[in-house]
Amino acid sequence: MLDISVVIPLYNEEESLPELHAWIKRVMEANGFSYEVIFCNDGSRDHSWEVIEDLASKNPEVHGIKFRRNYGKSPALYHGFEMAQGDVVITMDADLQDSPDEIPELYRMIKEDGYDLVSGYKQKRYDPLSKTIPTKLFNATARKVSGIKNLHDFNCGLKAYKHEVVKNIEVYGEMHRYIPFLAKNAGFSKIGEKVVHHQARKYGKTKFGLNRFVNGYLDLLSLWFLSAFGAQPMHVFGFVGTLMFFIGFIAAIVVGAWKLISLANGANPGLVTDSPYFYISLTMMILGTQLFVAGFLGDMISRNSQERNTYQVEKTI
Ligand code: UDP
Ligand code: MG
Repeated sequence: MLDISVVIPLYNEEESLPELHAWIKRVMEANGFSYEVIFCNDGSRDHSWEVIEDLASKNPEVHGIKFRRNYGKSPALYHGFEMAQGDVVITMDADLQDSPDEIPELYRMIKEDGYDLVSGYKQKRYDPLSKTIPTKLFNATARKVSGIKNLHDFNCGLKAYKHEVVKNIEVYGEMHRYIPFLAKNAGFSKIGEKVVHHQARKYGKTKFGLNRFVNGYLDLLSLWFLSAFGAQPMHVFGFVGTLMFFIGFIAAIVVGAWKLISLANGANPGLVTDSPYFYISLTMMILGTQLFVAGFLGDMISRNSQERNTYQVEKTI
């Protein structure tokens, strides 16, 4: 088995690739690692693929995947992970912002300290303020929601994984921001961090705009929801729905009883629609029923899902 697979997702990074490859090669040879480099070309429209073909023809350790169009960083990582054969898998961005010099220490942390996943932490960043400030907020939320309290930088492109980890998680959509959370949900809980050097982008420009933060939050919400209630939607929706319906029902009884009591006493109670409780009871009962139905539908969907019986089995003897 190879010691290390380096997986590199890239989109229009032709200028950086030869330099990045030479640097990785230098580090690997200096440390005597057996390795492969997997370039995942995410539908680049420049000459990135020609550069990769050229590198592969001269270097047997270089492999490449070419998407027909641009799908995103997560799909690129997904395919890189499928191909990776190394004992330790390292991901890094193609833009030379992440330094290959970090590889030996990351490898050591996985092999000797026994981490399942080690994430880079760009403590000193060379990015514009418009990106670093929202990133701080984003990471604070991700820490809270995922319960992985020791990570400062979820979205760092430079990460190292045990072989089993990349084979047992499914990075999809834009979930590359939350790989530690995916790993944790799959039962890989020894997650560490290493402060890494970061550099300003040398060529080209960033591929993600400000909408990364909006999408990032929505993904986090859905991931949190999936991990907390995904398997039993009825437990949340059914509970809240029943509770609301019950409150609404009590309110309806109060409204009705009050009217009857007033009539019995010979007073003029007016219309039930004059009472605020009437509206509370109406809304509560409608919302409660809807939530209940949502839970029920969710349960039917999860019953039919292909993943309903997918569990992480670590060992059998
Ligand atoms: N990338 C990709 N597909 C995309 C967008 C980005 O493979 O649709 C790659 C990109 O080429 C780079 C890495 O993902 O290697 C990180 O992107 P970028 O440097 O633009 O992000 P930033 O450093 O600004 O967060
Ligand atoms: Mg970058």
